[in-house]
Amino acid sequence: MPAYLDNAATTPMRPEAVDAMLPYLRERFGNPSGSHAVSREARKALDEARDVVAECLGAGPGEVVFTGSGTEADNLAVLGVHAVRPGAVVCSAVEHHAVLHACHVVGGRLAPVRSDGLVDLDALAELVDPDVSVVAVMLANNEVGTIQPLAEVAAVVHDRAPHAAIMSDAVQAFPWLDVADLAGPADLVAVSAHKFGGPKGVGALVVRRGTTVGPMIHGGGQERDRRSGTYNVAGIVAMAAAMRATVAERQATVARVAALRDRLADGLLAAVPGALETGARATKVAGNCHLTLDGIEAEALLVLLDAAGVYASAGSACTSGAVEPSHVLDAMGVPRGRGLGALRLSLGTETTDADVDLALEAVPAAVARLRQD
Ligand code: PLP
Repeated sequence: MPAYLDNAATTPMRPEAVDAMLPYLRERFGNPSGSHAVSREARKALDEARDVVAECLGAGPGEVVFTGSGTEADNLAVLGVHAVRPGAVVCSAVEHHAVLHACHVVGGRLAPVRSDGLVDLDALAELVDPDVSVVAVMLANNEVGTIQPLAEVAAVVHDRAPHAAIMSDAVQAFPWLDVADLAGPADLVAVSAHKFGGPKGVGALVVRRGTTVGPMIHGGGQERDRRSGTYNVAGIVAMAAAMRATVAERQATVARVAALRDRLADGLLAAVPGALETGARATKVAGNCHLTLDGIEAEALLVLLDAAGVYASAGSACTSGAVEPSHVLDAMGVPRGRGLGALRLSLGTETTDADVDLALEAVPAAVARLRQD
Protein backbone atom coordinates (compact mmCIF):
# COMPACT_ATOMS: atom_id res chain seq x y z
CA MET A 1 0.00 0.00 0.00
CA PRO A 2 1.42 3.42 -0.90
CA ALA A 3 1.69 6.13 1.73
CA TYR A 4 -0.17 9.35 0.96
CA LEU A 5 1.75 11.96 2.95
CA ASP A 6 0.64 15.11 1.15
CA ASN A 7 -2.44 16.06 3.18
CA ALA A 8 -1.39 19.71 3.28
CA ALA A 9 -1.85 19.73 -0.50
CA THR A 10 -5.26 18.12 -0.30
CA THR A 11 -7.10 15.46 1.67
CA PRO A 12 -9.27 12.52 0.63
CA MET A 13 -12.95 13.35 1.06
CA ARG A 14 -14.57 12.18 4.26
CA PRO A 15 -17.41 9.69 3.68
CA GLU A 16 -19.76 11.99 5.66
CA ALA A 17 -19.02 14.79 3.18
CA VAL A 18 -19.58 12.61 0.11
CA ASP A 19 -22.85 11.28 1.54
CA ALA A 20 -24.02 14.78 2.41
CA MET A 21 -23.36 16.21 -1.04
CA LEU A 22 -24.72 13.47 -3.31
CA PRO A 23 -28.45 14.35 -2.98
CA TYR A 24 -27.62 17.96 -3.96
CA LEU A 25 -25.92 16.73 -7.12
CA ARG A 26 -28.92 14.57 -7.95
CA GLU A 27 -32.55 15.16 -7.04
CA ARG A 28 -32.09 18.23 -4.80
CA PHE A 29 -30.49 20.34 -7.50
CA GLY A 30 -32.36 23.58 -6.86
CA ASN A 31 -30.97 27.09 -6.98
CA PRO A 32 -31.41 28.48 -3.45
CA SER A 33 -32.07 31.97 -4.77
CA GLY A 34 -35.45 30.99 -6.28
CA SER A 35 -38.83 30.85 -4.55
CA HIS A 36 -40.50 27.54 -5.48
CA ALA A 37 -40.32 24.26 -3.60
CA VAL A 38 -37.17 22.95 -5.34
CA SER A 39 -35.36 26.19 -4.54
CA ARG A 40 -36.66 26.26 -0.99
CA GLU A 41 -35.25 22.80 -0.37
CA ALA A 42 -31.81 23.98 -1.50
CA ARG A 43 -32.13 27.18 0.55
CA LYS A 44 -32.91 25.17 3.66
CA ALA A 45 -29.78 23.04 3.14
CA LEU A 46 -27.70 26.16 2.53
CA ASP A 47 -29.00 27.83 5.69
CA GLU A 48 -28.33 24.73 7.77
CA ALA A 49 -24.80 24.43 6.34
CA ARG A 50 -24.18 28.09 7.12
CA ASP A 51 -25.17 27.54 10.76
CA VAL A 52 -22.73 24.61 11.05
CA VAL A 53 -19.87 26.46 9.37
CA ALA A 54 -20.49 29.53 11.52
CA GLU A 55 -20.46 27.50 14.72
CA CYS A 56 -17.28 25.61 13.75
CA LEU A 57 -15.55 28.93 13.04
CA GLY A 58 -16.82 30.77 16.12
CA ALA A 59 -18.86 33.21 14.05
CA GLY A 60 -22.47 34.16 13.51
CA PRO A 61 -24.28 32.86 10.41
CA GLY A 62 -24.41 36.38 8.94
CA GLU A 63 -20.64 36.62 9.24
CA VAL A 64 -19.96 33.67 6.89
CA VAL A 65 -19.33 34.33 3.19
CA PHE A 66 -19.10 31.20 1.03
CA THR A 67 -16.42 31.33 -1.65
CA GLY A 68 -15.14 29.17 -4.49
CA SER A 69 -11.82 28.34 -2.75
CA GLY A 70 -9.44 29.27 0.03
CA THR A 71 -7.60 31.41 -2.51
CA GLU A 72 -10.76 33.39 -3.20
CA ALA A 73 -11.45 33.82 0.52
CA ASP A 74 -7.89 35.15 1.02
CA ASN A 75 -8.23 37.55 -1.92
CA LEU A 76 -11.64 38.75 -0.78
CA ALA A 77 -10.27 39.47 2.68
CA VAL A 78 -7.23 41.46 1.60
CA LEU A 79 -8.55 43.18 -1.50
CA GLY A 80 -12.13 43.46 -0.25
CA VAL A 81 -11.13 45.42 2.85
CA HIS A 82 -8.64 47.48 0.90
CA ALA A 83 -11.36 48.38 -1.62
CA VAL A 84 -13.56 50.01 1.00
CA ARG A 85 -10.79 51.23 3.27
CA PRO A 86 -7.74 52.08 1.16
CA GLY A 87 -4.55 52.18 3.16
CA ALA A 88 -1.32 50.32 3.62
CA VAL A 89 -1.44 46.52 3.78
CA VAL A 90 0.95 44.43 5.85
CA CYS A 91 1.33 40.67 5.68
CA SER A 92 3.76 38.19 7.14
CA ALA A 93 6.56 37.09 4.82
CA VAL A 94 5.46 33.44 5.10
CA GLU A 95 1.86 33.80 3.90
CA HIS A 96 0.48 31.49 1.23
CA HIS A 97 0.72 33.01 -2.25
CA ALA A 98 -3.06 33.61 -2.17
CA VAL A 99 -2.43 36.27 0.49
CA LEU A 100 1.07 37.28 -0.53
CA HIS A 101 0.19 38.02 -4.14
CA ALA A 102 -3.06 39.79 -3.18
CA CYS A 103 -1.03 42.01 -0.82
CA HIS A 104 1.49 42.59 -3.59
CA VAL A 105 -1.28 43.91 -5.87
CA VAL A 106 -1.90 46.74 -3.40
CA GLY A 107 1.77 47.37 -2.62
CA GLY A 108 1.82 45.51 0.70
CA ARG A 109 4.67 45.55 3.21
CA LEU A 110 6.16 42.26 4.41
CA ALA A 111 6.55 41.56 8.12
CA PRO A 112 9.63 39.38 8.69
CA VAL A 113 9.63 36.14 10.66
CA ARG A 114 12.26 34.78 13.03
CA SER A 115 14.33 31.69 12.30
CA ASP A 116 11.65 29.55 13.98
CA GLY A 117 9.06 30.83 11.49
CA LEU A 118 7.08 32.92 13.97
CA VAL A 119 6.35 36.50 13.03
CA ASP A 120 8.78 39.00 14.54
CA LEU A 121 6.46 41.09 16.70
CA ASP A 122 8.91 43.98 17.13
CA ALA A 123 9.42 44.23 13.38
CA LEU A 124 5.66 44.00 12.88
CA ALA A 125 5.16 46.89 15.30
CA GLU A 126 7.56 49.01 13.25
CA LEU A 127 5.57 48.35 10.08
CA VAL A 128 2.12 49.06 11.49
CA ASP A 129 0.96 52.65 11.69
CA PRO A 130 -2.48 54.30 11.71
CA ASP A 131 -2.44 54.29 7.88
CA VAL A 132 -2.64 50.52 7.74
CA SER A 133 -6.00 49.06 6.69
CA VAL A 134 -5.26 45.29 6.76
CA VAL A 135 -2.72 43.11 8.54
CA ALA A 136 -2.62 39.48 7.38
CA VAL A 137 -0.98 36.82 9.53
CA MET A 138 -1.88 33.19 8.90
CA LEU A 139 -2.82 30.86 11.74
CA ALA A 140 -0.74 27.88 10.54
CA ASN A 141 1.79 27.74 7.73
CA ASN A 142 1.26 25.40 4.79
CA GLU A 143 4.91 24.46 4.32
CA VAL A 144 6.44 24.21 7.77
CA GLY A 145 3.30 24.04 9.93
CA THR A 146 4.20 26.79 12.39
CA ILE A 147 1.34 28.30 14.37
CA GLN A 148 1.40 32.08 14.67
CA PRO A 149 0.60 33.85 17.98
CA LEU A 150 -2.49 35.62 16.71
CA ALA A 151 -3.50 37.15 20.05
CA GLU A 152 -0.08 38.80 20.34
CA VAL A 153 -0.24 39.95 16.73
CA ALA A 154 -3.65 41.50 17.43
CA ALA A 155 -2.34 43.29 20.51
CA VAL A 156 0.46 44.87 18.46
CA VAL A 157 -1.90 45.87 15.66
CA HIS A 158 -4.64 47.27 17.91
CA ASP A 159 -2.07 49.33 19.75
CA ARG A 160 -0.69 50.96 16.61
CA ALA A 161 -3.57 50.92 14.13
CA PRO A 162 -6.88 50.68 16.01
CA HIS A 163 -8.89 50.73 12.77
CA ALA A 164 -6.90 48.10 10.88
CA ALA A 165 -8.62 44.80 10.11
CA ILE A 166 -6.74 41.63 11.05
CA MET A 167 -6.98 38.84 8.52
CA SER A 168 -5.94 35.26 9.26
CA ASP A 169 -5.66 32.45 6.74
CA ALA A 170 -6.76 29.39 8.74
CA VAL A 171 -6.76 27.05 5.74
CA GLN A 172 -4.04 24.78 7.15
CA ALA A 173 -5.03 25.32 10.76
CA PHE A 174 -8.59 24.01 10.62
CA PRO A 175 -7.82 20.26 10.62
CA TRP A 176 -5.69 20.61 13.75
CA LEU A 177 -6.57 23.69 15.78
CA ASP A 178 -9.64 25.09 17.48
CA VAL A 179 -10.04 27.86 14.94
CA ALA A 180 -13.27 29.09 16.58
CA ASP A 181 -11.16 30.02 19.59
CA LEU A 182 -7.67 30.75 18.21
CA ALA A 183 -8.82 32.92 15.31
CA GLY A 184 -11.00 34.95 17.68
CA PRO A 185 -8.71 38.00 17.46
CA ALA A 186 -9.03 38.10 13.66
CA ASP A 187 -11.69 40.17 11.86
CA LEU A 188 -11.44 37.97 8.77
CA VAL A 189 -10.76 34.22 8.74
CA ALA A 190 -10.34 32.08 5.61
CA VAL A 191 -10.80 28.30 5.28
CA SER A 192 -10.87 25.79 2.42
CA ALA A 193 -12.93 22.58 2.43
CA HIS A 194 -10.48 20.29 0.64
CA LYS A 195 -7.92 20.59 3.42
CA PHE A 196 -10.23 18.85 5.92
CA GLY A 197 -12.05 16.16 3.99
CA GLY A 198 -14.41 18.35 1.99
CA PRO A 199 -14.48 18.85 -1.78
CA LYS A 200 -12.19 21.10 -3.78
CA GLY A 201 -13.51 24.43 -5.03
CA VAL A 202 -15.34 25.61 -1.93
CA GLY A 203 -14.21 27.75 0.96
CA ALA A 204 -15.47 30.34 3.39
CA LEU A 205 -14.47 33.70 4.74
CA VAL A 206 -15.62 34.91 8.14
CA VAL A 207 -16.19 38.65 7.98
CA ARG A 208 -16.95 39.78 11.50
CA ARG A 209 -19.68 42.29 12.15
CA GLY A 210 -18.17 45.77 11.93
CA THR A 211 -15.77 44.77 9.14
CA THR A 212 -16.79 45.54 5.57
CA VAL A 213 -15.49 43.91 2.40
CA GLY A 214 -16.18 45.22 -1.08
CA PRO A 215 -17.06 42.45 -3.54
CA MET A 216 -14.42 41.04 -5.87
CA ILE A 217 -17.03 39.21 -7.94
CA HIS A 218 -19.99 41.25 -9.12
CA GLY A 219 -23.34 39.90 -10.26
CA GLY A 220 -26.54 38.67 -8.67
CA GLY A 221 -25.72 39.99 -5.20
CA GLN A 222 -25.56 36.68 -3.34
CA GLU A 223 -23.94 36.59 0.09
CA ARG A 224 -25.40 39.99 0.89
CA ASP A 225 -23.58 41.52 -2.05
CA ARG A 226 -20.20 40.36 -0.81
CA ARG A 227 -19.80 37.47 -3.30
CA SER A 228 -22.02 37.00 -6.31
CA GLY A 229 -22.49 33.71 -8.12
CA THR A 230 -24.98 30.85 -7.93
CA TYR A 231 -24.37 28.83 -4.79
CA ASN A 232 -22.37 25.61 -4.95
CA VAL A 233 -24.96 23.98 -2.72
CA ALA A 234 -23.52 20.45 -2.88
CA GLY A 235 -20.02 21.73 -2.10
CA ILE A 236 -21.19 23.93 0.76
CA VAL A 237 -23.28 21.15 2.30
CA ALA A 238 -20.29 18.79 2.04
CA MET A 239 -17.96 21.38 3.57
CA ALA A 240 -20.30 21.72 6.53
CA ALA A 241 -20.44 17.94 7.00
CA ALA A 242 -16.64 17.70 6.83
CA MET A 243 -16.30 20.56 9.31
CA ARG A 244 -18.68 19.02 11.78
CA ALA A 245 -16.85 15.67 11.64
CA THR A 246 -13.43 17.34 11.86
CA VAL A 247 -14.39 19.33 14.93
CA ALA A 248 -16.02 16.33 16.63
CA GLU A 249 -12.92 14.16 16.16
CA ARG A 250 -10.23 16.84 16.27
CA GLN A 251 -8.89 16.23 19.75
CA ALA A 252 -8.48 12.49 19.22
CA THR A 253 -7.09 12.97 15.69
CA VAL A 254 -4.48 15.45 16.86
CA ALA A 255 -3.26 13.10 19.62
CA ARG A 256 -3.06 10.13 17.25
CA VAL A 257 -1.46 11.99 14.34
CA ALA A 258 1.02 13.90 16.51
CA ALA A 259 2.34 10.57 17.82
CA LEU A 260 2.71 9.28 14.24
CA ARG A 261 4.38 12.53 13.15
CA ASP A 262 6.81 12.40 16.09
CA ARG A 263 7.77 8.82 15.23
CA LEU A 264 8.27 9.81 11.60
CA ALA A 265 10.29 12.95 12.33
CA ASP A 266 12.44 11.35 15.03
CA GLY A 267 13.04 8.30 12.84
CA LEU A 268 14.10 10.36 9.84
CA LEU A 269 16.34 12.65 11.90
CA ALA A 270 18.10 9.56 13.24
CA ALA A 271 18.33 7.73 9.90
CA VAL A 272 19.23 10.54 7.48
CA PRO A 273 22.62 12.13 8.11
CA GLY A 274 22.48 15.93 8.00
CA ALA A 275 18.68 16.15 8.12
CA LEU A 276 17.30 19.10 10.08
CA GLU A 277 13.76 19.62 11.27
CA THR A 278 12.24 22.97 10.31
CA GLY A 279 10.62 24.99 13.10
CA ALA A 280 10.08 24.01 16.73
CA ARG A 281 7.78 21.00 16.99
CA ALA A 282 5.88 22.51 19.91
CA THR A 283 4.72 25.38 17.68
CA LYS A 284 3.71 23.25 14.69
CA VAL A 285 0.43 21.61 13.70
CA ALA A 286 0.25 17.88 14.41
CA GLY A 287 0.28 16.76 10.77
CA ASN A 288 3.43 18.55 9.63
CA CYS A 289 6.85 16.93 9.29
CA HIS A 290 9.22 19.24 7.43
CA LEU A 291 12.92 18.53 6.96
CA THR A 292 15.75 20.11 5.03
CA LEU A 293 18.45 17.86 3.64
CA ASP A 294 21.89 19.06 2.68
CA GLY A 295 23.17 18.31 -0.81
CA ILE A 296 19.86 16.90 -2.09
CA GLU A 297 17.57 18.26 -4.77
CA ALA A 298 14.02 17.88 -3.59
CA GLU A 299 12.63 17.21 -7.06
CA ALA A 300 14.93 14.21 -7.53
CA LEU A 301 14.04 12.93 -4.09
CA LEU A 302 10.31 13.19 -4.82
CA VAL A 303 10.73 11.13 -8.00
CA LEU A 304 12.39 8.31 -6.05
CA LEU A 305 9.80 8.53 -3.27
CA ASP A 306 6.98 8.44 -5.81
CA ALA A 307 8.45 5.25 -7.29
CA ALA A 308 8.63 3.79 -3.78
CA GLY A 309 4.96 4.67 -3.17
CA VAL A 310 5.56 7.59 -0.82
CA TYR A 311 3.65 10.66 -1.95
CA ALA A 312 5.17 13.81 -0.50
CA SER A 313 5.97 17.34 -1.53
CA ALA A 314 8.95 19.66 -1.66
CA GLY A 315 7.36 22.82 -0.40
CA SER A 316 9.34 24.76 -2.98
CA ALA A 317 7.92 26.00 -6.24
CA CYS A 318 8.99 24.60 -9.56
CA THR A 319 8.65 27.33 -12.17
CA SER A 320 9.73 26.92 -15.79
CA GLY A 321 11.92 23.94 -15.00
CA ALA A 322 13.96 25.65 -12.30
CA VAL A 323 13.39 24.71 -8.65
CA GLU A 324 12.97 27.91 -6.70
CA PRO A 325 13.71 27.93 -2.99
CA SER A 326 10.57 28.51 -0.99
CA HIS A 327 9.82 32.05 0.17
CA VAL A 328 8.93 30.59 3.56
CA LEU A 329 12.35 29.01 4.09
CA ASP A 330 14.03 32.12 2.68
CA ALA A 331 12.15 34.27 5.18
CA MET A 332 13.27 31.95 7.99
CA GLY A 333 16.88 32.39 6.90
CA VAL A 334 17.37 28.76 5.82
CA PRO A 335 20.48 28.66 3.59
CA ARG A 336 19.63 28.28 -0.10
CA GLY A 337 21.35 24.88 -0.49
CA ARG A 338 19.28 23.44 2.32
CA GLY A 339 16.11 25.14 1.11
CA LEU A 340 16.39 23.32 -2.21
CA GLY A 341 16.47 20.03 -0.33
CA ALA A 342 13.20 20.57 1.54
CA LEU A 343 10.86 17.64 2.15
CA ARG A 344 7.32 18.09 3.48
CA LEU A 345 5.54 14.98 4.67
CA SER A 346 2.05 15.98 5.75
CA LEU A 347 -0.07 13.50 7.67
CA GLY A 348 -3.85 13.38 7.83
CA THR A 349 -6.79 11.67 9.48
CA GLU A 350 -6.24 8.53 7.38
CA THR A 351 -2.48 8.22 7.97
CA THR A 352 -1.50 4.89 9.53
CA ASP A 353 1.49 3.29 11.23
CA ALA A 354 2.14 1.42 7.98
CA ASP A 355 2.44 4.75 6.11
CA VAL A 356 5.03 5.94 8.60
CA ASP A 357 6.90 2.62 8.36
CA LEU A 358 7.06 2.91 4.59
CA ALA A 359 8.33 6.51 4.72
CA LEU A 360 10.93 5.54 7.34
CA GLU A 361 12.21 2.92 4.93
CA ALA A 362 11.92 4.85 1.66
CA VAL A 363 13.26 8.30 2.60
CA PRO A 364 16.66 7.21 4.01
CA ALA A 365 17.11 4.80 1.09
CA ALA A 366 16.29 7.48 -1.50
CA VAL A 367 18.58 10.04 0.15
CA ALA A 368 21.43 7.50 0.30
CA ARG A 369 20.94 6.72 -3.38
CA LEU A 370 20.99 10.38 -4.39
CA ARG A 371 24.12 10.99 -2.35
CA GLN A 372 25.82 8.08 -4.10
CA ASP A 373 25.10 9.40 -7.60
N1 PLP B 1 -3.98 29.23 2.13
C1 PLP B 1 -3.22 28.19 2.53
C2 PLP B 1 -2.43 28.33 3.79
C3 PLP B 1 -3.16 27.03 1.78
O1 PLP B 1 -2.39 26.01 2.18
C4 PLP B 1 -3.93 26.94 0.59
C5 PLP B 1 -3.87 25.73 -0.28
O2 PLP B 1 -2.81 25.19 -0.51
C6 PLP B 1 -4.72 28.04 0.23
C7 PLP B 1 -4.72 29.16 1.02
C8 PLP B 1 -5.54 28.02 -1.02
O3 PLP B 1 -6.71 27.25 -0.87
P1 PLP B 1 -7.44 26.65 -2.17
O4 PLP B 1 -6.63 25.48 -2.61
O5 PLP B 1 -8.79 26.26 -1.69
O6 PLP B 1 -7.49 27.73 -3.17
